[in-house]
Amino acid sequence: MDIVIIGAGLGGLAAAACLLQRGHRVRVFEQAAQLGEVGAGIQMSANAVKVLDHLGLRAQVEATAVRPLAFEFRRYDSGELLHRIPLGAAHEQAHGAPYFQLHRADLHRALQQAVQALDPQAISLEARVAAIEEDSGSVTVHFDGGRPPAQAELLVGADGIRSVVRRHVVGVDRPRFTGQVAWRCLLPIERIDPALRTDIVSTIWCGPRNHAVMYYLRQARVLNFVGCVERDNDEEESWTVRRPWSELDEDYRGWHPQVRAVIDHVDRGECFRWALNNREPVADWSTVRCTMLGDAVHATLPYMAQGAAMAIEDAAVLARALSDELAGLPLAQRLQVYQRHRAPRTARVVHESSEMGELYHLIDAAQMRQAFHDRDIARSRNGWLYPYDPLGAALV
Ligand SMILES: Cc1cc2nc3c(=O)[nH]c(=O)nc-3n(C[C@H](O)[C@H](O)[C@H](O)COP(=O)(O)OP(=O)(O)OC[C@H]3O[C@@H](n4cnc5c(N)ncnc54)[C@H](O)[C@@H]3O)c2cc1C
Repeated sequence: MDIVIIGAGLGGLAAAACLLQRGHRVRVFEQAAQLGEVGAGIQMSANAVKVLDHLGLRAQVEATAVRPLAFEFRRYDSGELLHRIPLGAAHEQAHGAPYFQLHRADLHRALQQAVQALDPQAISLEARVAAIEEDSGSVTVHFDGGRPPAQAELLVGADGIRSVVRRHVVGVDRPRFTGQVAWRCLLPIERIDPALRTDIVSTIWCGPRNHAVMYYLRQARVLNFVGCVERDNDEEESWTVRRPWSELDEDYRGWHPQVRAVIDHVDRGECFRWALNNREPVADWSTVRCTMLGDAVHATLPYMAQGAAMAIEDAAVLARALSDELAGLPLAQRLQVYQRHRAPRTARVVHESSEMGELYHLIDAAQMRQAFHDRDIARSRNGWLYPYDPLGAALV
């Protein structure tokens, strides 16, 4: 098929690689002038790593990734261990692929190279889609700035939370502010006193109306900090807005020395903060010739570290739905198969991620301890989230 993808984020690139690998002609249009990702970490669990493996990216990913031993949920001030999800060898043995922590730019580069190895001309930059027209025979995208329109048999919207494709398919429905904002900072590990460094784990420090996630990147030479704080006022939804260090300091005053060791040593001018938005999931996100994936459809709070993983799973399942596996089905029905398969799982991630926000932010320590015990998130995620195989799960 002749397929156009809008957006060269992690989801769009994963889809391009999966579709090119199956022999389709793919053109990716990205509004940015340069390809890349922001300076921050990303976690990839087995369910998504299976797709990276399928694209032949294991060695490249592994070259810079960290394999954490566990998720550790701790009380923000005392450091009390509230819950633990073993990762490392246990995750790989149970779910068929490792758990990785990566720099976003490294993952993005790996996917970009996978696409360009299959078709060096597939990605066009400075191509901002402004409008979409669809009829029974084709779909046409119109660009800003005089670029000639592009026509295809299928359009895939991988254009993120402010998706233009979504406007065409679902209508106008703005993302909603979740009442939470996120800080992000990176710092070289040597700035932290060895006595205050955590093990090679992903630590979630849970406190009143606020939690912080800390994990290592790039062979544990870099520490990634994300701080998620409840706020009444809406803020800009942008990964590149800097805020004063004093506000970060204020948000984490009185926190455990291992958290303070990070706050005290980040670059004062490199503290980014932005609003976290999501949407109530929809079940129908395709027309006859248009569909979507990733944040364009099911933007989520990041509290299960699954937004990009869902986009990568979407990419693999969409490619399967357009392959010989569903031979004989017309395009519109293949898109229905794809979204019917994906909708319940992605909606569950959106809902459970919001519930995690409530769990991580409980004010009372005893209540938080009990809630972690009752919820047993290790059992839950090991039951449905991580074992899923986007390449093998039955489509119909
Ligand atoms: C704090 C935080 C931590 C996170 N941690 C994790 C994690 O550990 N693991 C995980 O799996 N997920 C995580 N996520 C979620 C993850 O970042 C997103 O789900 C993922 O990046 C979405 O990818 P996407 O390709 O769907 O969209 P995007 O990354 O938003 O990409 C969309 C692309 O489309 C382009 N575009 C938009 N409009 C147009 C247009 N009109 N024309 C042309 N191009 C256009 C954009 O420029 C962009 O390149 C986290 C999110 C946050 C906020």
